[in-house]
Amino acid sequence: MANATDPLVLIVEDEPAQLEVLTYNLGSEGFRLAHASDGEEALLLTQEMQPDLIILDWMLPNLSGIEVCRRLRTRPETKQIPIIILTARGEETDRVRGLETGADDYIVKPYSVNELIARVRAMLRRTRPGGVGEMLEFGGIRLDTEQHKVMRDGKAVKLGPTEYRLLSTFMEKPGRVWSREQLLDRVWGREAYVDLRTVDVHVGRLRKALNADGSPDLVRTVRGSGYSLDNED
Ligand code: CA
Repeated sequence: MANATDPLVLIVEDEPAQLEVLTYNLGSEGFRLAHASDGEEALLLTQEMQPDLIILDWMLPNLSGIEVCRRLRTRPETKQIPIIILTARGEETDRVRGLETGADDYIVKPYSVNELIARVRAMLRRTRPGGVGEMLEFGGIRLDTEQHKVMRDGKAVKLGPTEYRLLSTFMEKPGRVWSREQLLDRVWGREAYVDLRTVDVHVGRLRKALNADGSPDLVRTVRGSGYSLDNED
């Protein structure tokens, strides 16, 4: 659940399927969300809500994403708000045009949800220091969400990006049992076509990395249900 202090992301997207994917994935990352489905509404809501970041589709009815971006940049009260443009176009000239108009980043559809989230976080870190950084601790494991670093009993643990996201999911709610489907949604994104056994493989790698020094295994396999992080045997 998002808190009032969590970053507010305005999603400007006219296609329902795209919107659903964004809403689901950003929502489960703990962002507060607002939505506009055309350019005019985007301008109004931005003025009204002062979001921390805008994800802006290029192809919109009435007013294009580029035009929205240009107008937001000319207004003193909105010109600082970071904008990530989404587009199906991949031409280098379009990219340049998007960035020249004042967008801060540019993502081409179809994109990986994880990459989008990573870019959203990176941008919020730059513009909203401390807003998303957090230290999670459990059973001697420390996870620094700002630096993306993990320590166990004071020693650095090297994790791949997928294992890192798995661990951060577990550490948000120690003791909670996550089904493999839920982990798939959270870590890979709902759009991903990933076999459930892939989850097992990455949990296995996470376990190995965490327990490299012969530390007790905190990743529990719950038969028939999934996985959790806890201290119980
Ligand atoms: Ca569109």
